[in-house]
Amino acid sequence: MNKQLESYLCTRYPKLLHTEGPGSLYLFGFECQDGWFTLIYAACELIQEHSSYRDSEQVVASQVKEKFGGLRFYYHGGDDYIEAVVDLVERLSESICELCGAPGLIRERNGWLSARCEAHERRCAMPTPKLDEWIRQGDSMARVLGSALKLFAFSATETARWLTSPAMAAGMKSPLELLQPTNGHRIVLNLIGRIEYGLPL
Ligand SMILES: [Zn+2]
Repeated sequence: MNKQLESYLCTRYPKLLHTEGPGSLYLFGFECQDGWFTLIYAACELIQEHSSYRDSEQVVASQVKEKFGGLRFYYHGGDDYIEAVVDLVERLSESICELCGAPGLIRERNGWLSARCEAHERRCAMPTPKLDEWIRQGDSMARVLGSALKLFAFSATETARWLTSPAMAAGMKSPLELLQPTNGHRIVLNLIGRIEYGLPL
């Protein structure tokens, strides 16, 4: 991940993302591409909020990397909620291009698995968002994931399934696809609200 994004995360979440000492992220950094920034940001936001306000044990990340095409977020500490948050972002990473953050899927090339959008699968260059745009998208992702997890009683499996399945009320796009491009989170939060209150979609 580019150093500007890494250092933003480490500065924003110093308790969670240690950069000094044995086993810290300093040794390896974030071993994945920029496209998963919003997922990592959302995970950090939800984990830190939970650790700080629920008086829970402080979670510490030990490694953040790509493995078998998906995101892996290794950590110490935490409870069932933290486990659900991490499980959810790891599952969703398989539907988000690791290079640019656009909707994607796991593709195989020469025996390697990677999460790519169509453009990157065709090896087309895509514009990279600026830091403030990444942060805005990360905030939206955190709000949507927090609300969706609550809606599905903190089941990462159910939440990931809903977020990645085409929804009639969303023009047969998945809620995750709606998050792209900008401001799609409002539509997704509205969908979540309507389901929560049993309103027609
Ligand atoms: Zn892409």
